[in-house]
Amino acid sequence: MKPFIYNANPARVIFGSGTILQISEEVKRLGIKRPLVLSTPEQAKHAARVEELLAGVDGIQSAGQFNKATMHTPLDVTLEALKVVEDRQVDGVIAIGGGSTIGLGKAIALKTDLPQIVLPTTYAGSEMTPIIGQTENGVKTTQSTAKVLPEVVIYDVEFTLSLPSGLSATSGVNAIAHAVEALYAQNGNPVVSLMAEEGIRALAKALPIIVENPEDKEARSDALYGAWLCASCLGLVGMSVHHKLCHVLGGTFNLPHAETHTIVLAHALAYNAPNIPEALSQIARALGHENAVEGLNVLLTKLKVKRALKDIGMAEVGIDKAADLAVKNAYWNPRQIEKEGIREVIRRAWAGEPAAANI
Ligand code: NAD
Repeated sequence: MKPFIYNANPARVIFGSGTILQISEEVKRLGIKRPLVLSTPEQAKHAARVEELLAGVDGIQSAGQFNKATMHTPLDVTLEALKVVEDRQVDGVIAIGGGSTIGLGKAIALKTDLPQIVLPTTYAGSEMTPIIGQTENGVKTTQSTAKVLPEVVIYDVEFTLSLPSGLSATSGVNAIAHAVEALYAQNGNPVVSLMAEEGIRALAKALPIIVENPEDKEARSDALYGAWLCASCLGLVGMSVHHKLCHVLGGTFNLPHAETHTIVLAHALAYNAPNIPEALSQIARALGHENAVEGLNVLLTKLKVKRALKDIGMAEVGIDKAADLAVKNAYWNPRQIEKEGIREVIRRAWAGEPAAANI
């Protein structure tokens, strides 16, 4: 056994189907009397469902909804929400949605220290991390602070049934990416590795079924369980070149978050492959394939996802810019970050060539 340090984040996680029915108990447990319910405009009906469950509960009076959560947590939306928090004497937030809504709840907690209850509806994983990314004047900055870690996470499989098959696939691969990088993290440890391998296994089994039938409850339950494990990994250890590339590509060219992760992952893994033999065998085992990169390629084919950055809005001239940015302030990585190799990773991902371990 190699030496390690294990730092756990405090977490209360409620998992199941129909778990939303426990919302009023959880609100009371945290002593919240005036909760504000957050969502995107498209998910306002879920926020309304939460309010409905709180109506008439002794000691709780909903402060209403704020339905303007937006991708990448823009500062102007946060400021508007903070004004609502102040005006309506809000003493806790309930975020129901994906990473964008959870990000808004975290941004409110960062400024106010209010408690957060989160009901995730995608597999992106923000709910288990002390990380917050915010955008001001088009520039995204990220910080890590225990202040933004949600107090309670309620996973309710029912709310994932409506996630369209395409977004389910890419959001699921976004989750797998957290676990893949956790398996070769500099501060990795045996507990995180167990969670990572199990998370990849659960998602790799469930996602192809979901793509064929988005309402398959057993597969949805497996996928959400896997997403929770992968999210825990993201919250516990550092990420490497794959996440750096996705932050650069998403931030610079405004590419969609989950799709970008899905296209880049196999290429980033192929780049690191020469230096991570143990992680490769764990990933391969979790994917049920003898080769990790090949196994990922097979999974992506089954998921029928887009494979080229050029197909999700990136222009070819962006390749050099992305390579320049990706090597600046690089995250720790198991293989040295070399400009030419990284450029080749981006070029292959841009063109949609199959990932191969010969960079
Ligand atoms: P998202 O929250 O932006 O949601 C994408 C779209 O899907 C939205 O229109 C939303 O309304 C809709 N949607 C969500 N759940 C749905 C459901 N069950 N059914 C139907 N529609 C649904 O997407 P995301 O990928 O979850 O989050 C991306 C954002 O989260 C990015 O800004 C990313 O940076 C951030 N993120 C942060 C962390 C962190 O640890 N801080 C981790 C992962 C992602």
